[in-house]
Amino acid sequence: NADISMYQAKEKGRNNYQFFSEEMNQLALARQVIESNLRQAMVRNEFFLVYQPLFDIASRTIIGFEALIRWHHPQHGDMLPPQFINIAEETGMIVAIGEWVLRTACRQARQWHNGGSNGLRISVNVSASQLKHDSFLDIVASALKESDLPPGCLELELNESTIIEQGEKNIPILKKLKKLGVSLAVDDFGTGYSSLSYLKHFPIDRVKIDGTFVRDITPGGDNAAIAEAIIFMAHSLKLNVVAEGVEQEKQYSFLHNSKCDELQGFFMCHPLLPEDIIPLLRTYTTLTH
Ligand code: C2E
Ligand code: MG
Ligand code: MG
Ligand code: MG
Repeated sequence: NADISMYQAKEKGRNNYQFFSEEMNQLALARQVIESNLRQAMVRNEFFLVYQPLFDIASRTIIGFEALIRWHHPQHGDMLPPQFINIAEETGMIVAIGEWVLRTACRQARQWHNGGSNGLRISVNVSASQLKHDSFLDIVASALKESDLPPGCLELELNESTIIEQGEKNIPILKKLKKLGVSLAVDDFGTGYSSLSYLKHFPIDRVKIDGTFVRDITPGGDNAAIAEAIIFMAHSLKLNVVAEGVEQEKQYSFLHNSKCDELQGFFMCHPLLPEDIIPLLRTYTTLTH
């Protein structure tokens, strides 16, 4: 227990080293437990996907969904990606997990299409190690083939850092993905240090403005100016723009007026389980806000 060890370290005077090493032991232990639990999670079928709608401002409809992974941990209940996705990435487990996400999301989108919602897009997050993996292109092609999903309905979301991390080395794989017919989005834009004009060297279709800017938008404030500038520049570079993390009416209307193309956030809709999407698609396909 970290509190107890801090107390003991203080009792012993300025022996901070002892406190830090004890706390680090605790962290390492927690990490080890998650890591070994994660290894079993795939075979035990503990992962599931939730889907958050993306709203198209011009047509006032749901244009697609982003698939977001959840882990139903047998002891700790449902865990969110920030609690385990880094470990999955560092250990390489993300390659197998990501393949499952891709295949599951494509099959789900196919079902929506079969139910009459033709053309709905499904957006899937892809991490750097997946993109680097030799078989990634084949996995994407196979996920499309087995689900019979039109390639144009699949979007891969890559973080700004994932795209630019290897300089222009990623261009060939991105071009091959584009050749399959899928679209590519830059996720969490604004959190790295790249400019849109640099990103335009890569064959991307869309930028997603990171939620940390969007959440703090107050008309007239700095974040509003940043969002507006991103939208303007993206449009001049023929890129489509999504704002994520729209939580309030004032952000919604600001982004609407700023000609942002698509919106995603708790203000419109939280991520949902597949069974909750069907009634949503049936009854609520236009924005009511
Ligand atoms: P992301 O790709 O930027 O996904 C959007 C995140 O913002 C999601 O968090 C979503 O639930 C959350 N969000 C949506 N609207 C709002 C809002 O209005 N306010 C706030 N505060 N948050 C909002 P989530 O599901 O916890 O996922 C976190 C990150 O984990 C994702 O960020 C993505 O980078 C990663 N991730 C999620 N699923 C996968 C996956 O299947 N594969 C990989 N490689 N990464 C994933
Ligand atoms: Mg994303
Ligand atoms: Mg992401
Ligand atoms: Mg994001």
